[in-house]
This record gives sequence, structure tokens and C-alpha cells, in this order.
Amino acid sequence: MRDENTSRTFSGKPISPGLGQGWTFTYRKDLRRFDEFYDIEASNIEAELKRFELAVAEVSRDLKDLANRVREEIDANLSAVFHAHIAMVNDTSLKAEVKKKIREEQVSAGSAINMIFRLWERRFSSMEAEIAREKADDIHDLTQRLVLSLAGVRAHELEARLSPGAVLVTSRLMPSDTIFLTGRKASAVVLETGGKASHAALFAREMGLPCVAGIKGIVDAVPSGKPALVDADAGNVIINPDQNEKKNFQEKCQRKDQVRLKARAHSHEPATTKSGKVISVFANVGQREDVCEAIKNGADGIGLYRVENIYLGRQEPADYACLLKEIWKTLAPAKGLPVYVRLLDIGADKPFPFKKKQRESNPSLGRRGIRFLHEYPELLQTQLDVLLQLTSDFDLHVLVPMVTLPSDIQSVKEHMSDAASRTKTRAMPKLGAMIETPAAALSAPAITVHADFLSFGTNDLTQYTFAADRENIAVDAYFDDAHDVIFRLLRIVRDDAPQIPLSICGELASRPEAISKILNCGITTLSVAPPSIPKVKEAVRHCN
Ligand code: PEP
Ligand code: MG
Repeated sequence: MRDENTSRTFSGKPISPGLGQGWTFTYRKDLRRFDEFYDIEASNIEAELKRFELAVAEVSRDLKDLANRVREEIDANLSAVFHAHIAMVNDTSLKAEVKKKIREEQVSAGSAINMIFRLWERRFSSMEAEIAREKADDIHDLTQRLVLSLAGVRAHELEARLSPGAVLVTSRLMPSDTIFLTGRKASAVVLETGGKASHAALFAREMGLPCVAGIKGIVDAVPSGKPALVDADAGNVIINPDQNEKKNFQEKCQRKDQVRLKARAHSHEPATTKSGKVISVFANVGQREDVCEAIKNGADGIGLYRVENIYLGRQEPADYACLLKEIWKTLAPAKGLPVYVRLLDIGADKPFPFKKKQRESNPSLGRRGIRFLHEYPELLQTQLDVLLQLTSDFDLHVLVPMVTLPSDIQSVKEHMSDAASRTKTRAMPKLGAMIETPAAALSAPAITVHADFLSFGTNDLTQYTFAADRENIAVDAYFDDAHDVIFRLLRIVRDDAPQIPLSICGELASRPEAISKILNCGITTLSVAPPSIPKVKEAVRHCN
């Protein structure tokens, strides 16, 4: 028999990088311990239907609070998950199915929810598409919430029992679990299931929480209270590490810290190549905290401000005053530095709560980015008016997302000129096109007629070049943003439009090993996540 204190190593998929250590907290979500599953008498049907309605109302309220907390503490993009949950739990056909079960089979609300929701969960989890499997997670999460609400349990177990710095071990991370992990309440997370593009991965990466997934059976194998080392760079988890393993892990932590410290020490100096060329290293941001972190890390400017956060999770689109206030507040710490604000890039994987869009069978190839703004010119107009106003306070540049045809950027330029004459704005911001489709890369000369600069969105450029959904783990092998094909497209743009300033704001720019190749393609500006600035500047300094 295995001694329960001997060292054991488990291997899984790294879905959010980093190193973490602590005592395990094994979190089981077994609803059977709640006495909510039973048959009822005909005379109790009405009372049970009422309990179900009350549970739905309570869960909807809790989800609304949760969405607000996530919006404030993590990211407005992610709070959209909870708005989707509210819609799902109030879905009329799903509710009708549960009520029918209570009435016809004379079972408790708990039993009916369990049967109907589990059925839907199984349907979704057997589907191929990653997005369908995520929906299965969402339904599982809702089943938990409803049954807990019926049982009168309000406090979340993680809130009540997770001790600071613990390594959380659980089968899968539900969106509603994640709020209890903010502020590094856990040092790492180990999961039985979950892909790179799952909600769990998204949350963990946003929070800088190391996470390894795909270790089947770990919940049964590892009880709470065991020492654990989690290497989410390599995908390994060691339970009950021996002296040697502890020593190796500490050394790895120290090496990482040293690299980080060394890069930090020079992060406020310019990134100059060995041949003396200065490369601007900017930051990609979504909210004010990112801008503050970027400045702390030595950003030379803000290379991509994704304004989607201001819009997502709102019932109505942001109006002029609100947009002006939000953008001003976010960018204020970067006053005096160049800032690049991207027009709203909504559609595809970024949900849009306040316009009833017609369903599209393939949203990534549908109306997203500038295509969407052309359809709702009032949204474009408000943004341009705000950006023109901000030009008097900031060194402002405007980025147009998903430019595919030269006319996409030409029309924005015309709208901007009209807005400038209307508002009597004298200084016009510089206008740039995001190069995110092969068609845009191959028509650079025609696009540059209307643009002052180009910025490669290599995340989408890779997705559209390789026909591989950036969210779908099943086609991960096709999604290679450092492939020669991508560099070939960069070089084509450089050769076809040699005068125009070029930058990259996709994930590729944050890979130290890719920097030299990127600079060889004539790119003079890199824009990366704030924590990556020091290491990217350091990588530039090693280039010839
Ligand atoms: C990109 O596509 O590379 C990009 C920077 O835009 P986003 O990731 O917001 O789509
Ligand atoms: Mg993009």
C-alpha cells in the first residue's frame, strides 16, 4: 500500500503559467449531502413550484451581485459570464421543463432541477465544440447554485473554508468559484478538467494564478492538508515533496525571481538594440489598474487600449459623457506618453449585451470590429467625438479593429474629418489600421493611403490565416502565431509599404524568443501585457 506521506508527482496541462506552493484544500462539490432530492405528494406541488421560483429569483440576485464584483475586482469582460448565467437560469423553456417534472412526476424542486439540468449538461458536454462544453460547465454551476439556494445555504464553501495561500484541488473551476480566489487567496489551482480556452483558464490567467488542469482522479487521490508544489510552467504537481524536490522547486522560484528582478532593474530605461535602434515597448490595457501597472513596469506608452470593458456588462451603450469619463480616468496615469485607443471591437467571442444582433452561423467571420460599427454608426460617432475631445489632453492615436478592405479605414477617416469640422477640433489624432486578416496584410499599400500607421493583431491574424479558432483547444496545434507564414505576412507588409510605421500588439510580441525575428520585419513598436514589459525590453537589448 502507498504511504500517504510519500512524494507523488502528477502531470497535467499548464493552463495558466507560474509557480505556486502551499497546503492543499480539496474541494468536493457533492450535492447529495443536501436533503433536497425526494418525492412529493400531489398537495405539495404548488408549494414546490413556488420554492423553485424563489430559488431562481435568489440565484439571479446573487449572480447580479457577483457580476458587479467581478466587474470591479477582475474584469468587465469576464462579468459577462454571469450575465449569461442570469439569462440561462431564467430561460422560459428550461424553467417550463423543470415545472413539468415537478407536476407530472411529483418530485421535489431539487430532484427536478437535478434531472433536467443534468440532462442538458450531458447534452452539452458530449458535443465537440469547446464552447458547448463550456456551456455544460455553466449549467453545472447553476445546478449547484439552485440546489444550495433550496437548501438555504448562502455562504460559498470557498469563502468560508479556503485558507490564504492554499493550493486548491478540485474537479473543475466554476465561474462563480473564481471570485473567491482573487487577491491571491489561493497560491495555485489544480483541476481534473478544463482547457486552455475554458472560463477557468481565462480567469486564472487574468489573476496571475498558476493553474494545472487535466489531472483525472486527483480529487480522490489528494486529501486536504498536504504540502504541494505546483509548477504551472511545466504542468507538474508534487504532493508531499521530498527534500530534493523542495530544493529544486525553490531554486526554480529563485531563478525566475532573478530574471524578473534583473529585467525590472532596467525596465524604465529605453529598449535599445545592440546596433543602437530604440524600440518602443508599449502596454496593452483594458482598465486603469493595467495602466498603473504598465507605468510601474516602465511602459513607453499605451499601445492598445481595449475599450470593450466599458461596454460589456452594461444594459445600454456608454453615452458621450460616460465614455469620456471612463477613457479619461483609465488613461490619466499615462498622460504625456503616446496612447493608442482602439475603437470598440465587439462580436465573435466578445459578447454584446445591449443590441439584439441577428444570429450568425459563424460570428468570427461575421460582423465584428469595424464591420459592426459600420452597422451602428451612432456607436462609431460617439467614440470619435470622445476621442477628438481627448486629443487636447493626450498624445492620442486611434486604432481601427478588423480592417479588411481599404474602405473600412477610409470611411472612419471620413467620419473623423466630419466630426472634427462639426466639433471645430483642430488637432486630429493619428489613425491606424489593425492588420488582423491576410486580406489586410496583402493590401497594405491601399490601406496606408488612409492610415498613418499599422498595428498587427497577430492573435486574429493567426486565427484567420490558419483557419483555427483562437478559443478552441482542439485546433491548438494549428494556432501557431510564431509560424514562418505569419512572419512572411509581416515582411510582405514591410516591403509593400516601407514608409509606414509598424507595430505588433498581439501575444506574439511578448515572446522573448520571437523578438529578434519581429524586429527584422521592420517593426519598431511592440505592445504587450503590462507584466511582460521588463522581459520584452530585456529581449530587445539582446538583438542586433
Ligand atoms: C489581436 O488580434 O492580436 C489583438 C491584439 O486584438 P484582440 O486580441 O483584442 O482581438
Ligand atoms: Mg484582434
